[in-house]
Amino acid sequence: MFKIIAIILLTLSTAGAGYFGWTQKKSNAAVTEQVAELTQKVEEADKKVEVTEEELAASQELLPPLMTKAQELEAVKAAFSTGTVLKDLETLYAKEKKGLSTERQLGLAGVRLLTNGTKDPATVAAFQKALEMTDWKGQKTVICAAQNALAAAGEKVKVMSECLPDAPAGKPAGKHDAHDAPAAKDAHGAPAAKDAHGKDDKKGAKKDAHGPADVHAVHWDYEGVMGPENWGKEFPTCGRGKSQAPLNIKGPFEKVRYSVAPDYKQGQLKIVNNGHTIQVNVVPGSKIRIDGKPYDLLQFHFHRPSEEHIDGKPSAMVVHFVHKNAEGELAVLGVMLREGNENPGIKTLWSHAPKKEGPEVVPDGVMFNPTNLLPREMDFFHYDGSLTTPPCTEKVKFFILKSQVNIAKEQVSDFPFKMNARPIQPANGRPIYTN
Ligand SMILES: [Zn+2]
Repeated sequence: MFKIIAIILLTLSTAGAGYFGWTQKKSNAAVTEQVAELTQKVEEADKKVEVTEEELAASQELLPPLMTKAQELEAVKAAFSTGTVLKDLETLYAKEKKGLSTERQLGLAGVRLLTNGTKDPATVAAFQKALEMTDWKGQKTVICAAQNALAAAGEKVKVMSECLPDAPAGKPAGKHDAHDAPAAKDAHGAPAAKDAHGKDDKKGAKKDAHGPADVHAVHWDYEGVMGPENWGKEFPTCGRGKSQAPLNIKGPFEKVRYSVAPDYKQGQLKIVNNGHTIQVNVVPGSKIRIDGKPYDLLQFHFHRPSEEHIDGKPSAMVVHFVHKNAEGELAVLGVMLREGNENPGIKTLWSHAPKKEGPEVVPDGVMFNPTNLLPREMDFFHYDGSLTTPPCTEKVKFFILKSQVNIAKEQVSDFPFKMNARPIQPANGRPIYTN
């Protein structure tokens, strides 16, 4: 039931998003009214415990005529731009104790996109993230609608071939797959040239069918014209933020009394090469307590060399564990990796990590416990920073562990990115704490 609601809202919102920035059209009160009506119906349906599939199917029937009228986008846009739809949905979802399903997160992110517009990088990034979390299987309609809408709105999005308007239904992606799509100016500036799947079309198509959406909002890189010096052009916070990360960690330090306590659990390995790093998406259940407050572990990923420096020196690599609490605040636990003995945890990860950019892979029956990458001692340095990749959102708490763990030299060179570390950022008087 929730899935249907999410799809209605998402399709509605992405349809609207697709027209963002288009020519001004006359307001259409009837459409506004229908949007409000549909929203109300959805809310009512949600309140009823015993609501039937038939009833929902009836609300769904409202959709096609609404979609037609959505051509008069100004009206749809107006209905969303008041923020009422978003607020109602947020209120409704806030009651969820267990957290939102990926469908609901996707729907919510879609409505946010429509409300806030595609010009807000944080909103677009949140939507992209929600898309990435969504399982391709059974979600094709939603993902295709979202990809096409973002592309139409002028975002540089990779539209999968199966989502192209003329794609034959049910036929797997062929030779000219996702990355050749018109809106899919490749992540490295050369359309299709550095394509991750082009040469290996059968395999690529198969992976696409199971992986999450393969989407990039705006291209950025670690070198060249789209390198860190220029991130600020597309992502203002990267250039103007005053609390950016990473930092060079050096004294004098201020004292904190609390501790950080990870409680990571074993779970199915889900690993992706997103073109910027190797990232492991973590199944729900792993968390960390920071000063007693729980933060859920979302994912962890690697940088080579370590982004943080200690007394001016980087380590061979760093792993960043990214967490989020109930209020949506982010905390990153950083574990520096120094050259030494082989790391068994890394060995498992690297054996499944895709060498080339592509969708998430979920190797059958392979379990992984992130605890395997932690040292015994949890003493840390702490500072307030930002995401170290665009959009460089601030108010991210960093905890860099003093103890480092080993990684073999060969394991470092097997990491598919030679350099994916943002340069050290100015501290601007920020204190660095230690326990
Ligand atoms: Zn990172």
